[in-house]
Amino acid sequence: MKDKIKVTEEMQLVVEQMRLDDIEENPDIENEFFDCDCCGQCKCVAGSIQYGDYRLCNDCVLFAEVGFELKKLNSIQDLVDAMEDKRLEEICGFIKNDSNGVNN
Ligand SMILES: [Zn+2]
Repeated sequence: MKDKIKVTEEMQLVVEQMRLDDIEENPDIENEFFDCDCCGQCKCVAGSIQYGDYRLCNDCVLFAEVGFELKKLNSIQDLVDAMEDKRLEEICGFIKNDSNGVNN
C-alpha cells in the first residue's frame, strides 16, 4: 500500500511539470482556456490532458493521476462521475448569481 500523501506530493510535481512544459513549448497557451469536462470550470489549457472523450484541466489531471496511482479509480469515467456534484454546484452557482437582486 502506497503512502497517500507521498503519492500526492510526487504527482503534484509531475503534473506541475507537465504544465510548465506546455507553457515552454507554447507560451501563448497561458491565455487559452477551455471548459474542463471533469470539474466544469473554465481552466487554462496549459497542463490539461485529453483522456479518451474527456479533456481534463491541470487540477483534475492531478486528481486522476493520484486516483489511478492509489487504485481509487479504474477509469476517467469514474472521476467524471465522482465530480458530477461539483459540476452541478458550478451550474447552481451561476443560477444563484443570476437571481441575486431579483427580490430588491
Ligand atoms: Zn477540471
